[in-house]
Amino acid sequence: MTAISAFEYPNEKQIRRHGPAGYSDYESYREWLRDEFSFRCVFCLQREQWSRLRATFHIDHFMPQSIDRELECEYDNLIYVCASCNSIKSDSIVPSPFQFAFGQCVVVHSDGTIESRNPTGELLVDLLRLDDECLTTYRKKWLETFRALISAANVESYEDWMRFPDELPDLSKKKPSSNSRPDGIYQSAFARRSRGELPRTY
Ligand SMILES: [Zn+2]
Repeated sequence: MTAISAFEYPNEKQIRRHGPAGYSDYESYREWLRDEFSFRCVFCLQREQWSRLRATFHIDHFMPQSIDRELECEYDNLIYVCASCNSIKSDSIVPSPFQFAFGQCVVVHSDGTIESRNPTGELLVDLLRLDDECLTTYRKKWLETFRALISAANVESYEDWMRFPDELPDLSKKKPSSNSRPDGIYQSAFARRSRGELPRTY
């Protein structure tokens, strides 16, 4: 039986793999962030592959610009989120995926509901409204669809929803004025795919 990983939050804290610096506008970090956050919203796990509209993903300032303008173009303060989570988060300060393993904080059940496992999880759910009825229904529908595809032995179609995007950014072509974590490029999805190491689904 294929396990459905669509709404499984990571069991490890995220570690920044890339460290570009020197761009004068934060949008220039987009391709780095897409790869850094595995082409999905760090908070609700919606994937680029499910919408196919890049515009539905935003770059969020983890520490809001209203609090610290100096961090506007600081890569380590940027996260990749969907438009909905970006708008809900707004200027609030929420638990960081680099400080907490979200998989230890919240769990999504097969009916799409989300449960907090600790106080950090409660904060995440409350501040980002991860238990909102609309989002719960969204998760439920996707999970039902995935289960239906798998039980109909339509694994190819399931994998199509769960794979990396076709168009992956080649970060080795990017030329930021500096990069404090150059080894990250070697681990990018583009580089792994060119070495034949990228998994079919994630
Ligand atoms: Zn989201």
